[in-house]
Amino acid sequence: SKRGRLDRYLATKLQIHRKAVRALLLAERVYVNGIPAKALDLQVDEFSHIVFDGHILQANQPIYLMMHKPVGVVSATKDKEHQTVIDLLACEARHELHIAGRLDLNSSGLLLLTNDSRWSEALMSPEQKVDKVYRVILANPLSEEYIAAFAQGMYFAFEDITTQPAKLVILDSHLAEVTLMEGKYHQIKPMFGRFRNPVVELHRLSIGDITLDEALSPGESRMLTVEEVASIW
Ligand code: URA
Repeated sequence: SKRGRLDRYLATKLQIHRKAVRALLLAERVYVNGIPAKALDLQVDEFSHIVFDGHILQANQPIYLMMHKPVGVVSATKDKEHQTVIDLLACEARHELHIAGRLDLNSSGLLLLTNDSRWSEALMSPEQKVDKVYRVILANPLSEEYIAAFAQGMYFAFEDITTQPAKLVILDSHLAEVTLMEGKYHQIKPMFGRFRNPVVELHRLSIGDITLDEALSPGESRMLTVEEVASIW
């Protein structure tokens, strides 16, 4: 992880022996987040603001964005064929961002981007069981059988995985809302595939307490609020 002791950070950054760090701290030559650092074992991370003798050693801002991902754009940082979600961003630091939970090329909706890997790992960790809600339009009519099959989980022999219980609500003959607690396998299309029912549209509405902002048109993005960022921890 990018989190660790201040003495280790300074030894590497300044190319000095770890034992030499003590004198720097005693002389108050090192500031962390605006305060003279006193402890060798002070925990710092990639977003700690660190100054040595008035020179900024590190001043990274954590960035958290939501995007309304359009259909036809790849959830990747680089792609040879298609435009990527990073290409759609205006923010200068866009090449430092990664995606927390991808969507298929032909899926749309809420996509989260950040440079904070601790945050995205917390969001995506299987133990956290963060709900992801999708609106799905199907080619063929739905029936009650789908509900039990989704709730039970499905086994996919080729990948050798059994999906976690998922909630399916039928909203109209060809329209469902699906809630997943895992999101590793892009499993919605294959699950409807069990019923030979092709997915026509797949749109993510929310991830945990973060809901796609209706003011965002496809391709647009905005910063997350402090509350949205904190809702993950
Ligand atoms: N499930 C899918 O099949 N595709 C997605 O993009 C997300 C979930």
